[in-house]
Amino acid sequence: MGGTFDPIHYGHLLAAEEARINLGIDRLIFVPTGDPPYKRAQKIASAEDRYAMTLLATAGVTEYSVSRIEIDRTEETHTVDTLQEFIKSGINPEDLYFITGLDAMLSITSWYEFEKIPELCTLVTARRPGYSVRGIEKLPDFIKDKLKYIEIPQFAISSTEIRERIRNKRGIRFLVPHLVEIYIESNNLYLF
Ligand code: NAP
Repeated sequence: MGGTFDPIHYGHLLAAEEARINLGIDRLIFVPTGDPPYKRAQKIASAEDRYAMTLLATAGVTEYSVSRIEIDRTEETHTVDTLQEFIKSGINPEDLYFITGLDAMLSITSWYEFEKIPELCTLVTARRPGYSVRGIEKLPDFIKDKLKYIEIPQFAISSTEIRERIRNKRGIRFLVPHLVEIYIESNNLYLF
C-alpha cells in the first residue's frame, strides 16, 4: 500500500484491512513515499517522521509491515521501481497488488513509466467517501483491466484535514491511532 501518509490515519488503515480481507492478501506492506519529485513544492513532514508514524500505526499487527524501500532510495523514486524491486526479491507479479487511494490512482497516467505498471502487479484502489468513481472510466483499458476496486467503510477523513485540525488547534483524537497522535504532539508536527 503506497502513500505519502502525512500523517497515516484510520482511513488508510481501514482501507488496508478491507483490501487484505477482500483480496485474501497474507502480507500487507505499507510503503511511505520518500521525497516524491512531484511534491517538492509542497511542505510535507520528513520521510523519517512519516515512516515512524506508519510504524507506530501498524505495530503489533502481524500481517502488516512497513517498508523503507522508497525512503532509502537516494535517486528519484517511482512506483514502477518499487514494484520491480519487490519482484526481484522473489514476489510473483500475479501475487503482487499495489493499493492506493482513488484520487492518487486517477493520476496514474502521469506517473513515470506507468505503461509498465499493469504488467508488474494488480492495481487496487479504495473509494473515498464523496469521491466519484467516474474518473476510472477515462483510464486506458490496459490499466482498467488490471484494476480492482474495493469499497471502504464510510470514513470521511484525509491527511489534509488532520493537518488543518492540528494547525487550528482542534483535536485529532480517534482520527489517528493514539501513538501517532502522541508522536505528532511530541514532535510539534503540522503546527505551521
Ligand atoms: P498522497 O498525497 O498520499 O495521496 C493522494 C490522495 O490519495 C490523497 O487524497 C490521499 O489521502 C489518498 N491516498 C493516498 N494513499 C492512500 C491509501 N493508501 N489509502 C487511501 N487513500 C490514499 O499520495 P501520492 O503522493 O499521490 O501517492 C500515492 C501513491 O502513488 C504512492 O505510493 C506514490 O508513490 C504513488 N505515485 C507514484 C508516482 C510515480 O511513480 N511517478 C506519482 C504519483 C504517485 P490522504 O491525504 O488522506 O492520504
